[in-house]
Amino acid sequence: MGFISDQLIQWHKTSGRHNLPWQNTHDPYLIWLSEIMLQQTQVTTVLTYYKKFIKRFPDIDILANAEEEKVLELWSGLGYYARARNLHKTAIEISKNYDAKFPSSFDRLLSLPGIGRSTAGAISAFAFKKKKPILDGNVKRVFTRYLGIKEWAGKPSVEKELWEIATRNLPKTNKHIHTYTQALMDLGATICRRTQPLCNNCPLKSKCISFKKNLTKEIPASKPKKTLPINEIYLLIINSRDSYLFEKKPSKGIWAGLWSMPELENFKNTANWIKENLNEDDYKMLEIGKHKTSFTHYKLNIHFQYIFLNSSKLLKTDNCKWIKKSSLKNAALPSPIKKILNTLKDV
Ligand code: SF4
Repeated sequence: MGFISDQLIQWHKTSGRHNLPWQNTHDPYLIWLSEIMLQQTQVTTVLTYYKKFIKRFPDIDILANAEEEKVLELWSGLGYYARARNLHKTAIEISKNYDAKFPSSFDRLLSLPGIGRSTAGAISAFAFKKKKPILDGNVKRVFTRYLGIKEWAGKPSVEKELWEIATRNLPKTNKHIHTYTQALMDLGATICRRTQPLCNNCPLKSKCISFKKNLTKEIPASKPKKTLPINEIYLLIINSRDSYLFEKKPSKGIWAGLWSMPELENFKNTANWIKENLNEDDYKMLEIGKHKTSFTHYKLNIHFQYIFLNSSKLLKTDNCKWIKKSSLKNAALPSPIKKILNTLKDV
C-alpha cells in the first residue's frame, strides 16, 4: 500500500480542519462525546448539539447523575437514540467504577457501552496519544478507493483486511498520531467525499487506484440489497387542547425509553381504548394514515388514526402523558413520530 501516513500528516498542516470545538483538547470526555455524536451525523449538525450538551453536562459526573430522559431530550433531533442511552450508561459506569476518570486502556474503553473499535481507537489517539487505528465510514471510503477494493466494505473478510491496512498504515511513532487520525477523518469528510470527490486536491492522487482508473463512482460499493421483513404497528394519535397523548416505550426494544403514541393490536378496539383510558365516548376521527420507515433489519409500516377529543383526562397514568404541541420540539420522540406529527393538520 505504501505509507500514506506521512503524506496525510503533511497535508493536514495546510488543508485539514483545525478549529472544530472538540479539537485542540486531550479531554477524553469531550472527545468521546464528539465521537459518539459524529458516528451517524454530519459535523454541521453535531456542532449545535455538542455545544448544548457540554453546557448542560459539562463533566461526566453531571451526565451520570442526570435522568436518562433529560439526556434523551437533549439528543432530540440527532436520531439514533441508542447512542444517547449508551452515552448515559457509560457515564454512569465511569463515574461508579473509574472514579469519574476515563480509562486509558484500549480494552477497557472497548468494553464500555456504545464504544466500538473505531471509537475506542479515536479516543486512544486523541486523548491518550496511543497508536490505535480507526475505521469509520469515511476512512473505509478512503482506503477502498485508494486501493481499488471493489467489494462492500462491510463484508467481514473485507473489513478484516481494512483493519489490517489501517493498522499497517499507522505512523511509525505516536508523536503525530493525533494529527494523522484527524487527517484521515478530514480527508474522508472534505476531499474523498462520497459524491464528487475532490481528487485534484487530494494528497494521495498520484497512487490512488480509483483516481487513476476512474472508479470513484463504483467505489465504495454499496451494501448488497436484501429483502427485509415488514412489521406493522397501529398507533392512536390523540389531540386535545393543544396537546397530544404520548405513551412511554419500555426500556428495551424499538424506540426504547422514548415517547411514542398509544399502540394497539389493530384499530378494531379504538373506541374501547378511549373509553377505558380517557373515559370518553365522544371523539372525532380526523384522519387515517400510514407512514413507512425502515431500520437495519426490517421495514416498519406505521398505521395511525388521528383523533380529536374535547377533554384531556387520563385514567391510567402509568406510562401516558399529554405533551403540549409547543413542547414537542424538545421532547424525546422517535423521528418517524415527529415526521408524522409534522404532516397532520392543526385542529
Ligand atoms: S484521489 Fe480521489 S478517490 Fe483517491 S483518495 Fe483522493 S479523493 Fe479519494
